[in-house]
Amino acid sequence: MALLTVKDLEVYYGKINALKGISFEVNEGEIVALIGANGVGKTTTLHAISGLIPSASGSILFDGKELTKLPAHKIVELGIAQVPEGRRIFQQLSVYENLKLGAFTRKDKNIDQTLQTVYSHFPRLKERRKQQAGTLSGGEQQMLAMGRAMMSAPRLVLMDEPSMGLSPLLVKEVFEIIKAMHDSGITVLLVEQNAKMALSIADRAYVLETGNIAMSGDAKALMDDERVKKAYLGA
Ligand code: ATP
Repeated sequence: MALLTVKDLEVYYGKINALKGISFEVNEGEIVALIGANGVGKTTTLHAISGLIPSASGSILFDGKELTKLPAHKIVELGIAQVPEGRRIFQQLSVYENLKLGAFTRKDKNIDQTLQTVYSHFPRLKERRKQQAGTLSGGEQQMLAMGRAMMSAPRLVLMDEPSMGLSPLLVKEVFEIIKAMHDSGITVLLVEQNAKMALSIADRAYVLETGNIAMSGDAKALMDDERVKKAYLGA
């Protein structure tokens, strides 16, 4: 069943038509990758879903609810969390304080339980919970951004370029964590320039080219597709 349905979505920055009417779906329980080169509209797509930028036309349905007219905090409350490009953690705050902020829209009493789950996924965050977040390594900051998103107890996580700026070893580790998050029941929409890694963990994928979806399909099939190989997998 589709958890997220994006239909004919258009976004403009002034006169720039960044998304030209894209349509795609994310089913409950899937990892869906959105791949494509620099500047084709991947981040714009995630920002439109999470309500950080307005949509000009089209619709975004999450669990049957229209998101395009809702403010960002309401969208978080509905169960969507974004892990932003470049992590965007609060450098001056401690690891623990950053995690607590992820739960700011929650009204239930299970926040501490989620915190323990996050610590079990990321033992290093537990060890460093009192440390100032700005002093963490790049990989640890990525884990903190992921842990913070999990603190809102989301049904859908939007991941923006989690591999950016990380060493190959850390990229592998971060992708293992995405898989573990997914195994714990979270649906994932993953934006990546690292198409190889993204396709290796995704169920399905969409290829974005300058504001349009150029290709879509089963992730394994796309990995074997000659056009995808040439353009995105360096073959
Ligand atoms: P990247 O990997 O660099 O983040 P992307 O695929 O995520 O690329 P977007 O950041 O969504 O691409 O950008 C899509 C297009 O919109 C680009 O042409 C970009 O220059 C333009 N754009 C993005 N943000 C703005 C903005 N705030 N104002 C004007 N143009 C913008």
